[in-house]
Amino acid sequence: MDFCCKNLKKHVISHYNNANGLHNDQEHAHQIFQSSVMSALINGVYEGNITYGELSLHGDFGLGTFNDLDGEMVAIDGKFFQLRSNGSATEVDPSQKTPFAMVTYFKGEIQHEITSPMDSRQLKGLIDSLVLSKNLFYAIRIDGEFYCVETRTVSIQSAPFKPLTEVAKEEKIFGFSELRGTLAGFRSPDYSQGISVAGYHLHFIDDEQKRGGHVLDFKINRGIVRIDTFSSVYIALPETEAFENARLGADNGSAIKEAEG
Ligand SMILES: [Zn+2]
Repeated sequence: MDFCCKNLKKHVISHYNNANGLHNDQEHAHQIFQSSVMSALINGVYEGNITYGELSLHGDFGLGTFNDLDGEMVAIDGKFFQLRSNGSATEVDPSQKTPFAMVTYFKGEIQHEITSPMDSRQLKGLIDSLVLSKNLFYAIRIDGEFYCVETRTVSIQSAPFKPLTEVAKEEKIFGFSELRGTLAGFRSPDYSQGISVAGYHLHFIDDEQKRGGHVLDFKINRGIVRIDTFSSVYIALPETEAFENARLGADNGSAIKEAEG
């Protein structure tokens, strides 16, 4: 069965259920859909069983990674990109799988124009002032002209997997300057560290859709910030032996900070 047919079948099932009064059409649910948890990724659970074809039924916007940690994922406007450590950016094949991703259908309910240069700390402060509460989740999209963006991209790993804190020490760091592009990601509450990345987790792709990665730092000249608020997060845990056997404690906060910057 090809990808389109598979999609069609899911639509049919979803509408059938709606006809029976059961609302499970994830496509229109105002929620974040997440595969696995950050604690698992930090502990080297780099194999998930959800495909990008399935993931794309739950959102057109988001971030994540790939099985075997083969690069960073960023999704905007329904297009999913794989940013690899060799600097390439390619569209994701629906059959590829992810061990961690967060997606949603992005609307951009809150909008704010940036008219003067800001560094990442100032911009995060601005977003903090625009959002309702630090206890909710937010999807954040920033389109604009960037003075600079510093990103990192994880490299493909092979079993036995090293934890992400060790992989992160060897990762490729890229510096881009004077370019247009999009930052896409989430602001998660402090209490969610381990489920997600507490605070800001942003990925970048340039307007030419050729360069990007997990964002470490940036300065923006001008642009537009758009934000959506979420009080609902759906987490699909991996149905894999590696996940079932992983030792996932509550003490991963410093490791996540170290690995995710
Ligand atoms: Zn990331």
